[in-house]
Amino acid sequence: MISFSGVGKSFGDNHVLRELDLDVAAGEKVSIIGPSGSGKTTILRLLMTLEEPDSGLVEVDGEPLWDRRGGAVADTRGQAAVRRKIGMVFQHFNLFPHMTVLNNVALAPVQVLGMSRDDAEHRAVDLLRMVGLQKHLRHKPGQLSGGQQQRVAIARALAMRPKVMLFDEVTSALDPELIGEVLAVIRDLAHTTAMTMLLVTHEMRFAAEISDRVLMFDSGAVIESGPPSKIFEEPQHERTQRFLKAVL
Ligand code: ATP
Repeated sequence: MISFSGVGKSFGDNHVLRELDLDVAAGEKVSIIGPSGSGKTTILRLLMTLEEPDSGLVEVDGEPLWDRRGGAVADTRGQAAVRRKIGMVFQHFNLFPHMTVLNNVALAPVQVLGMSRDDAEHRAVDLLRMVGLQKHLRHKPGQLSGGQQQRVAIARALAMRPKVMLFDEVTSALDPELIGEVLAVIRDLAHTTAMTMLLVTHEMRFAAEISDRVLMFDSGAVIESGPPSKIFEEPQHERTQRFLKAVL
């Protein structure tokens, strides 16, 4: 479903991704762990076309999202359609502050997918019920807790019916007592949907619980990958051992 081949990305002299090869199968739930600054978020931002790779090929659902093989300039025709298969939830919820919760969720399906206002609102209500926010449809984001805002952000991403969901440290900005309610929503999604999910997370126990596979990332490359039991209980790489010792 997602494939990176030989993908490189630098910011000036900072080589963030080095010849990255990574495949994620359809329906697979994959967590990316690793030290700060190792390039985890950059992977997700490339998929959202918020960053552009310098080299390599990124494919989603068998179609090219970025083609920079040989350093060629990407052919971006069709990129928007591929990009639309992907939803992302950010660390900072990025909701529209002046809009109601309902409008935050219903807006893109109307504007981008051309859905009727009625259909988009019905779907938004269903999604907001699913994330436990049916009582807050008419509230503005500023009237909600951080955990509630993040659940709106999840509903908003789901409203576009993505095949792939990306979660970038979605609990890092939350007070500890609000983390559980957000993880519970993601856990439900992981266990009940066929969506492909890629999560960057510092919540190791959560990653262990919901992931089919965990990738340990360091200095722009996957240095170890495997099922959670293997990565968390029998890490092979010295860097993984050191990282887990520091965070667990
Ligand atoms: P963290 O866990 O702290 O979020 P990360 O593994 O997600 O870290 P990235 O956010 O992918 O790391 O960043 C990798 C490196 O690229 C960092 O050194 C960061 O400062 C740098 N970087 C990221 N985005 C930019 C940008 N737009 N311009 C310049 N440097 C950037």
